Amino acid sequence: MSEIHGLAVHAAGAQLLPYKFDPGELQPHDVEIKISHCGVCHSDVHLIDNDWGISKYPFIPGHEIVGTVVGVGSDVTDRTIGERVGVGWQADSCGICDWCRRGEEHLCAKSQPTCVGRNGGFADKIRVNSRFAIPVPSVLESEQVAPLMCAGITVYAPMRNHGVRPSSRVGVIGIGGLGHIGIQFAKAFGAEVTAFSTSKDKEAEAKELGAHHFVNTRDTGALKKVAGAFDFLLSTVSADQDWQAYVNALRPKGMLCLVGAAPSPMQIQGASLVLTQKAISGSPTGSPGDLSEMLDVAARHGVKAITERFAMSKANDAVTKVKKNQVRYRAVLTN
Ligand code: NAP
Ligand code: ZN
Repeated sequence: MSEIHGLAVHAAGAQLLPYKFDPGELQPHDVEIKISHCGVCHSDVHLIDNDWGISKYPFIPGHEIVGTVVGVGSDVTDRTIGERVGVGWQADSCGICDWCRRGEEHLCAKSQPTCVGRNGGFADKIRVNSRFAIPVPSVLESEQVAPLMCAGITVYAPMRNHGVRPSSRVGVIGIGGLGHIGIQFAKAFGAEVTAFSTSKDKEAEAKELGAHHFVNTRDTGALKKVAGAFDFLLSTVSADQDWQAYVNALRPKGMLCLVGAAPSPMQIQGASLVLTQKAISGSPTGSPGDLSEMLDVAARHGVKAITERFAMSKANDAVTKVKKNQVRYRAVLTN
């Protein structure tokens, strides 16, 4: 019998506790991965607290995983034992719907998130469909690449999909795990980059990461001062914001794209979108193809997470620090 050992949460908001389970026989299309690193995404915190009403307890959180393939199912032809791979938000999809056939597996209605209804990466091992175990370029360090598997793809995909280019003026709202990588990708796309933050002590680092400008959103009137300035605004914040002020900060044809989801309905005046042809959109993570592309771009442009390392056994400390917005900028658990 092979056992997987990890840290699970048994009720909304509870502490992580040691947990083990028997994953059964390795399924024909699955790989088993020995986990070396796992990032702590704020989505793990939302799942631990059941903020989205989709958590199924007990479960092991964690979906920014890097490790080594130690087992391959009988039908796996794309991965080999010993390969270093990463796993993000998604562990499986149906493989046959329109979206899977188009290589947009992240939009599959039967998508299986890595740690919803399954056990994730705060553990020694994990099993996923081999299509979702993504080879990691050798130049990338495991600790710095783990956060790219969710935070990285979540900020890369919308910039790529919405055509961010050297002439673009991009704003990244919220400089946490996602945002600090968002600044780096926006720079890699050649854009003029502005960081929007509630933490003025992040200004110097945001600029080192590639931001040309820094807006302290706690300053009254700060958003008014940047009215009409941006082609693309990416919000990584999960709290309610003055969305109208951000729409007003867009140039004509500009887009406000949400990757963090605020709890309340957004209040926006229709006319402020209509007359200047502006748009509001949302974006999830990305497909396996997008993940490989994003890792290549990260390797070429030196995009990497700034990490705070915790032993796997200290996962509760990491979660507490994420909740307090004290991590600079991504907690990574190591085995
Ligand atoms: P994080 O590391 O906690 O960073 C979030 C940042 O938001 C904070 O560092 C802070 O930045 C800012 N912030 C926090 N509270 C705020 C408030 N009340 N008002 C304004 N700004 C605030 O979280 P993360 O891991 O980057 O994740 C961010 C959000 O994206 C989460 O809600 C997560 O669930 C979501 N997410 C979505 C996807 C997707 O597929 N779309 C994927 C991953 C994560 P400053 O200190 O700079 O203000
Ligand atoms: Zn995530």
